Amino acid sequence: MKNVSDIKDCFGCGVCAIVCPKKIIDIKLNKEGFYAPVVDGQNCIECGQCVAVCSYSSGTIAHQSSIKGLYSAYSLSAENRKSSTSGGIVYEIALSMIKKGYEFCGVRYNIEKHRAEHYTTHSESEIKASQKSKYLQSYTIDGFSQLDFHGKNVVVGTPCQIDSIRRLIKKRKSEDNFVLIDFFCHGVPSYNLWRSYLKHTQLYDIKNVQFRSKEDGWQESTYIIIISKLRIWKSKMINGDLFYKFFLGNRCLNKPCYDDCKFKTINSSADIRVGDMWGKKYCTNQEGISAVITFTEKGENIVRSLSNCSIRDESINDVLGIQMRKNAQRPLSYKFVINSLKKNKPLTFINFIASLIELPNKSRKKFIYITKRLKQLFC
Ligand SMILES: Cc1cc2nc3c(=O)[nH]c(=O)nc-3n(C[C@H](O)[C@H](O)[C@H](O)COP(=O)(O)OP(=O)(O)OC[C@H]3O[C@@H](n4cnc5c(N)ncnc54)[C@H](O)[C@@H]3O)c2cc1C
Repeated sequence: MKNVSDIKDCFGCGVCAIVCPKKIIDIKLNKEGFYAPVVDGQNCIECGQCVAVCSYSSGTIAHQSSIKGLYSAYSLSAENRKSSTSGGIVYEIALSMIKKGYEFCGVRYNIEKHRAEHYTTHSESEIKASQKSKYLQSYTIDGFSQLDFHGKNVVVGTPCQIDSIRRLIKKRKSEDNFVLIDFFCHGVPSYNLWRSYLKHTQLYDIKNVQFRSKEDGWQESTYIIIISKLRIWKSKMINGDLFYKFFLGNRCLNKPCYDDCKFKTINSSADIRVGDMWGKKYCTNQEGISAVITFTEKGENIVRSLSNCSIRDESINDVLGIQMRKNAQRPLSYKFVINSLKKNKPLTFINFIASLIELPNKSRKKFIYITKRLKQLFC
């Protein structure tokens, strides 16, 4: 393979664009609403560097690791813990590493472009924007291109982004300068869903977006809050929030999240993996606890030396808790949903039809029969 132009529907991590010496690779949203490379093939010098760092085109994981430590952890600062998704452990790591002179590369929400994007900073106040998960595929180019391979860096990202970054730093012989953090990853939903969801809220002049809120406690934190100039939108998964219904119902994830993710459970190229410590053991906790796995001595030392955190040894079963063991499965409605989102159909309509398609055959036939009978009676 000469370059990544032959690759279709990849992870969209953008590392190919960073490494390209001719800068002929751009990362753009495709029609399905996912970031993917676009290559100006005419000016390609066929150096193969883009393919060499591409996690998607390799069958293996860049860094075969073994577990060094398994923990539940949370920040001792009530404020930091509350403004993070689970226990606030990534923020504590970022804070401690910045004090040691590291640059931090994480993800913030861009309110003008309504997208998640990587950015790089060494300022304590600026890392706050990275707190909380943004359940979207991040645009990586600006953040990753600011990485200094001769300086010290902490990079947080999805397991596929981190796997490509691991390949890149191996190639540049700068692994010692990097700390890589990933998380248990459900998958990333389409930006067509996010655009449609924002339209559905009928909010204008949006000031702030939170994908997870602990307002009603961590156990009920799958809770979207969007603040606009005039109104506040609050919507919970348990009350049928449509973003979560589509995202966690796997109705419109990126194709490789179903077919090519090789990073479930303990498969990772990171030094440290985090996640929500979901499961029986902490099912009454409302402040939030992070699950933490360390895969390298470096990762283990960093976690062990965190001073402002509670860190507790755990078993593998408790750390994996109710995490996905396998890749997401496409529901029957998948094709319909992806196509309807592409055509900008209203989200409530797509949901109605998708729910019908997903009904077991018998119930679907029963539903169609009753609707027809009602139509005959009342029309
Ligand atoms: C798309 C996605 C799917 C996830 N799926 C699961 C899952 O199935 N199970 C689970 O336990 N946890 C999942 N997580 C992780 C989880 O939501 C928490 O981030 C994790 O528990 C760490 O919490 P925290 O309190 O330590 O840090 P947080 O305050 O959540 O910070 C986490 C870090 O993640 C980075 N980040 C935020 N959004 C993105 C993004 N879109 N892409 C890349 N990096 C990002 C930020 O830079 C931040 O430093 C997922 C996160 C994302 C973004």
